[in-house]
Amino acid sequence: MLIVPEREIADLMTREAAFAAVEKVFAAMASGDAYNFPVVREAIGHEDALYGFKGGFDRAGLTLGLKAGGYWPNNLDKRGIINHQSTVFLFDPDTGKAKAMVGGNLLTALRTAAASSVSIRHLARKDAKVIGMIGAGHQAKFQLRAALEQRDFDKVIGWNLHPDMLPNLEEVAAEAGLPFEAVELDGMQEADVMISITSSFDAILSAGQVAPGTHIACMGTDTKGKQEVDPQLLAKATVFTDEVAQSVSIGEAQHAVAQGLIAEGDIAQLGAVINGSHKGRASDEEITLFDGTGVGLQDLAVANAVVELAVEKGIAIEVDF
Ligand code: NAD
Repeated sequence: MLIVPEREIADLMTREAAFAAVEKVFAAMASGDAYNFPVVREAIGHEDALYGFKGGFDRAGLTLGLKAGGYWPNNLDKRGIINHQSTVFLFDPDTGKAKAMVGGNLLTALRTAAASSVSIRHLARKDAKVIGMIGAGHQAKFQLRAALEQRDFDKVIGWNLHPDMLPNLEEVAAEAGLPFEAVELDGMQEADVMISITSSFDAILSAGQVAPGTHIACMGTDTKGKQEVDPQLLAKATVFTDEVAQSVSIGEAQHAVAQGLIAEGDIAQLGAVINGSHKGRASDEEITLFDGTGVGLQDLAVANAVVELAVEKGIAIEVDF
């Protein structure tokens, strides 16, 4: 069995490799070659932790396994380690033998950033110039960095409930040599591409604050009850997702579906656009919305890619198991 520890991931994994792995597995999901297993998520009654598993099997990429982990709210204060903790386990689909154990913390951030980035590649207008960010936390920096590689952007605008976090966005914009402007939510109408990545439980952005032709990736809503945008925006937009079952239950679409504004059948898989079985954006005036809920197969895909890189570079630790 191979081990790739968390400390090695930053030097091994690239945004390009994460993008390629996520794009490929989204396509495999849409063509029926890959599927996710039901998600398990439990409050374990110890350290206020939420623990669970996300797994799946990709018959095309021969990737089988799961990500185990969750959220330990006291880690940072009590132990000086990050609150989100996860590990990916890969198995040989031919034999069931354990194949690899991979640190999953940085990989989770990279695969989430890759998902909105893949949606921008396939759904945003080619002439997009202004990118708008709603949210400025840990994950927002990853999302913005990956998104900036997808179009020839000339400005970053941003809004956050806690304005003291906005320098996070300014820092990433500066890395890319772009100006950053803090705006009110009405100012988001200037954006051609938008990403929302917050922990909000109420709609932040109203449908009227999104201009025609915009592509928006809603990335923060990954649990029942969370919400970032007005459900009317989903009624107005063409809605895509990583996985429809998650979109309607734990994703941004849960609210619009519950209110009868859209139906499950109105939501398309982003993988179908990648495969060419859905035409994607239909016009320059259409609003496209990607509901990125985060699936186990994304984790397995990036973990598999990092194991290959670690073997190539002689960094993977081999243990007899
Ligand atoms: P973080 O704690 O670093 O940042 C949280 C962000 O949400 C900040 O911008 C904060 O100002 C904002 N926020 C907090 N409460 C808010 C509220 N009530 N209304 C509006 N904004 C609020 O967290 P993070 O690591 O950046 O993660 C952000 C979100 O992304 C989380 O909800 C997380 O569960 C989600 N996430 C989704 C995926 C996925 O695959 N879809 C993957 C990873 C994380």
